[in-house]
Amino acid sequence: MNIVILGAPASGKGTQSELLTKRYGLYYLQTGDLSRKLAEKNERLKEIVNSGKLIPQEEMTLYVLDFLKDEKIDLNNILFEGFPRFVSQYEALENFLKIKNSTINLTISIDVSKEEAITRMSARRICTVCKKVYNLITNPPPKDEECGCGGKLVQREDDSPKSIEVRFDYYEKNTKVLIEYLEKREKLVHVNGERPIEEIFNDIVNILDKINGKNNNQN
Ligand SMILES: [Zn+2]
Repeated sequence: MNIVILGAPASGKGTQSELLTKRYGLYYLQTGDLSRKLAEKNERLKEIVNSGKLIPQEEMTLYVLDFLKDEKIDLNNILFEGFPRFVSQYEALENFLKIKNSTINLTISIDVSKEEAITRMSARRICTVCKKVYNLITNPPPKDEECGCGGKLVQREDDSPKSIEVRFDYYEKNTKVLIEYLEKREKLVHVNGERPIEEIFNDIVNILDKINGKNNNQN
C-alpha cells in the first residue's frame, strides 16, 4: 500500500505519518528531510529551503524518483509526506510506480483551519540544549518552559503568528489544484485534523483497513 499524506503546517501530519508507518510497516518518505539533506550539498537549494520555500516542482520530482531508484525501497509500501504537492509531481510518481507494477492507493488530507494552525504553532517550544520540540497544548514539557534535559525552552522565530500565516497560505495556494484534481479522480479522503491525535489516527486506520481488505480480496 502506498499512501500520500497532505496537510498544512501544524495539521499534525508528521505525528500521524509516524503512527501510520509503524502500524503498517511502511517506508516513511518525508521530503522535508530529503530537502534538508540535499541542501547540505548545494548552496542554491540551501537558500530555497532556508527561506521556507519549495524546491522547484520538476526538480524535486527528479530527486524523489532518483531516491526511490537508489535506495532499494519496497515500492509497494511507502508513505509519502511533503511530496507530491503538485499535479505534475503526482502524475510523475504515478507513472513511475506504474512501470514497477505499483500505484498510489490513496491520498489523505488532514484538514485544519488557519486559526487552529496559528494557535498550535504559537504553542511550539524548542529546547536550546538538545533541540527537542514540545507543544504547550498537545505535547507539554515535564516542567513549565523547561525541557526534560534541563535546557531552556524558546519559541522559534519562524513560529511567530505572521510567519505561520505566510506558510499556511503558501501551502493552501500550492496544494489546492492537486486536491481538486484528486477529488475528481476519487483518490482523496479528507480527515478533520482538529481532534485528538488518537481519534484522527483511528479514522485513518479504518479507511486504510477497508482499502487493504479490498486489495486482499482481489488477490
Ligand atoms: Zn532538552
